[in-house]
Amino acid sequence: MGTDIDPGDGHDPDPAPGDPAPAPARKGVHRTDGELAGRVYGQARCASSCLDPDEWFPLALDVAKARDQAANAIAICTDCPVRTDCLELSLRHPFDISAYGVWGGLVEGERRALWRQWLAGTRVTEFL
Ligand code: SF4
Repeated sequence: MGTDIDPGDGHDPDPAPGDPAPAPARKGVHRTDGELAGRVYGQARCASSCLDPDEWFPLALDVAKARDQAANAIAICTDCPVRTDCLELSLRHPFDISAYGVWGGLVEGERRALWRQWLAGTRVTEFL
């Protein structure tokens, strides 16, 4: 990576050759990835649930079937205080940390379908 100064918008101000592509700028979203992760990992409702971990990872590729398989997990997300942060973080990292499973109450196929809208500037609150 380049400098250690984080401009607070999720972008590396001085990327080096070989660095991964920066997260896209999010108008109105000022939290860094670290801040989002801190909020999510600190307040995640799923962290205190007794649900079988497999229920967070539906096997079906079809969205309706996946939502049905993950219905218990999605129900927990519905009341989660950091749901928007969770979804924002997942959309910033669709190919690594959040490639699979339920994030922000949405299954993989739903997030994939929304990703281009999010890249174009739609806020996560409009997806929930
Ligand atoms: S929205 Fe769901 S997956 Fe995300 S932190 Fe909350 S309970 Fe966990």
